[in-house]
Amino acid sequence: MGYTPEMKELIKRVEATRQERVERTQRGEYFTPMTLDERHDVLSKFHPDYMEKGRVAVRVGANKGDVYPEEVVACIESYPRIMPGQVKLDELETKSADILVIGGGGGGTSAALMAAENGLNVILATKLRHGDANTVMAEGGIQGADHEVDSPYYHYLDCIGGGHFTNTPELVAALTHDAPVVIGWLEKLGMMFDKKEDGRMMVRHGGGTCRKRMHSAGDMTGSEIMRILRDESRSHKDKIEVIEFSAAVEILKDANGRASGALMYNLETEEYFVIKAKAVVIATGGNGRLHIQGFACTNHYGATADGLVMAYRAGASFAFLHSTQYHPTGAAFPEQNVGLLITEKVRGLGANVLNIHGEQFVFEREPRDVESAAIIRECTERGNGITTPVGRLGAWLDSPMIEMLEGPGTVERELPAKFMQFMRYGIDIRKEPMLIYPTLHYQNGGIKINDRTETGVPGLFAAG
Ligand SMILES: Cc1cc2nc3c(=O)[nH]c(=O)nc-3n(C[C@H](O)[C@H](O)[C@H](O)COP(=O)(O)OP(=O)(O)OC[C@H]3O[C@@H](n4cnc5c(N)ncnc54)[C@H](O)[C@@H]3O)c2cc1C
Repeated sequence: MGYTPEMKELIKRVEATRQERVERTQRGEYFTPMTLDERHDVLSKFHPDYMEKGRVAVRVGANKGDVYPEEVVACIESYPRIMPGQVKLDELETKSADILVIGGGGGGTSAALMAAENGLNVILATKLRHGDANTVMAEGGIQGADHEVDSPYYHYLDCIGGGHFTNTPELVAALTHDAPVVIGWLEKLGMMFDKKEDGRMMVRHGGGTCRKRMHSAGDMTGSEIMRILRDESRSHKDKIEVIEFSAAVEILKDANGRASGALMYNLETEEYFVIKAKAVVIATGGNGRLHIQGFACTNHYGATADGLVMAYRAGASFAFLHSTQYHPTGAAFPEQNVGLLITEKVRGLGANVLNIHGEQFVFEREPRDVESAAIIRECTERGNGITTPVGRLGAWLDSPMIEMLEGPGTVERELPAKFMQFMRYGIDIRKEPMLIYPTLHYQNGGIKINDRTETGVPGLFAAG
């Protein structure tokens, strides 16, 4: 258990440079961030999104001709699970509500709550258990400009820059303006955010941010979000019916082409049923578990692109589906942890990213795509990666720096989940660095929506 003797030998190189790196950080001297040209160069050569390999053009539907990862295209071009005429809809058990929300993560549960708060009856149907979702796995925090030195304007600019000026401005505006309101709403519902002694929210930097605006609950922020959202939905039992282990299979439309519900599949009884509604919200999360280009993945097992497929088949279109986020710091060792997210907060707390020689090679707070591309370059082209016993490559994330910078006890207090996840395999991240490599984390694009979350299909919305 723990690192092999060879890896322990390499860790000595990290230890040899640590004191000096800590002192530099304490003086506020950081590794020089890349220029825009340098960012472009490393992205174009090393980020999987920019590679031709593994990408194909879609042959059918509204986005015909667009080039996406082949795993995604295979899903959206696949035969339907159920052929026309295979079931008679009017003979199936049918439930009705004002709103059908498909997906029981943070996006779906918030949508259900907001509909219920506005007097509507909701059915929230979800494939697994309510809360079995990526939301519950979110670690580092939730960003919102609610501090006096910050504003949604700066948050907006950071997002636009992080998106290399290609984002849809109205969506970024909606996100950044709503973020402080949502953080206030979550707190009102009882979310236990990390706070300072004076009661104000603790905020930290995320990648590519000019202000500290990451609000957290330890390194289990999503779990805390999901706890209060799920609790709150239980308090609205009269308005929100939650149906678990039921996957939506197809969106149903009325004679006017308006979304009118969904064909559902009960995973326990293996029976189809119908939910009719005046409007449908797709909140089924992402496609991480397609393991695009063979990358390890941080996502829960339900993240299999269902919503994309259903929405496309109903006539909606996609935006930015070519773009996938590879989180720079996924665990690369031990094998049991491979792909597991190592939250950005670890770098936010001061841990350096290092090569086999114990040297820094990238500024720790580059946007995630740039940071990932730089790690891939260092480990592949430059040959400065650490090889695990099964042949994976990785770079060090020097977590022991955290306690030297922030004081003893910080790792267990701020990163309890990471501490346990590594301790379980004999690695004490207070004393030994973590081995990391970029991991598939996030479907950046998805169903095309406007700033009111409307898709191109009347009555069909997408959230999350
Ligand atoms: C490990 C990890 C760490 C993260 N950390 C952060 C972070 O620190 N900060 C941050 O902002 N973001 C973070 N994220 C991203 C964030 O968690 C997601 O963007 C967000 O939670 C997505 O919410 P959602 O409701 O859209 O999707 P999800 O939370 O994934 O919920 C989707 C739900 O839909 C269900 N579903 C899927 N298909 C069907 C179907 N056919 N029928 C019915 N139900 C279906 C799923 O089972 C699931 O319950 C992290 C993600 C991961 C995986």
